[in-house]
Amino acid sequence: MFIGHYGPALAAPVLVRTVPLWALFFAVQFIDVVWGVLILAGIEQVRIVPGFTDVSPLDLHHMPYTHSLPGALALSALLGLAYWLIARKARLAGGLLVAAACFSHWLLDLIVHVPDLLLWPGGPMVGFGLWDNLELALGLEVALVIAGLVFYLRATRGKGIIGRIWPFVLVGVLLALEAIHLLGEPPASGEELAMTSLAVFLILTGLAAVADLTRESRA
Ligand SMILES: [Zn+2]
Repeated sequence: MFIGHYGPALAAPVLVRTVPLWALFFAVQFIDVVWGVLILAGIEQVRIVPGFTDVSPLDLHHMPYTHSLPGALALSALLGLAYWLIARKARLAGGLLVAAACFSHWLLDLIVHVPDLLLWPGGPMVGFGLWDNLELALGLEVALVIAGLVFYLRATRGKGIIGRIWPFVLVGVLLALEAIHLLGEPPASGEELAMTSLAVFLILTGLAAVADLTRESRA
């Protein structure tokens, strides 16, 4: 899953209004941020196999730390704890929301990945394989983002013209990235993929911060 991960991030402010959108954008991809670092370090591995699934050429055959169930739970707890330590307002609710946003990554990956998500060390690999159905997988990604946008517009309002248009800019960028992802050339190597992914996550987190600056909670 790619842009669909941002659906829960956009929807989350409806639950806890104090957590900034940039923190949620970071949280929903935190598992893949660590994955990118571990790919670059050679600790986790990916093969680029054009046609591996309908949607994605990635054979994610070795990611026992970031994308196993215990690994994803641990990373989610860690990020929630970090938020709880740093935040000044609604620390517990915010920490729980950040942890939940982080774990939503694994649950959405579970729907689209072929069985490459380890349930426990030495246990079975799981994944419902929606990536083998381009229309359904793409429909799900777009539907998650649009649903997230609807919730985000209900939870916040623009302080000025930039704030009013920014959510649509953000979603436009996400849809454009999905199109590039689908129509572009597959990455040449796992390292290139990891670097591009990390850069994209960083840019999207920055774009979400603009929403935080230009919009305010409706509550
Ligand atoms: Zn992932």
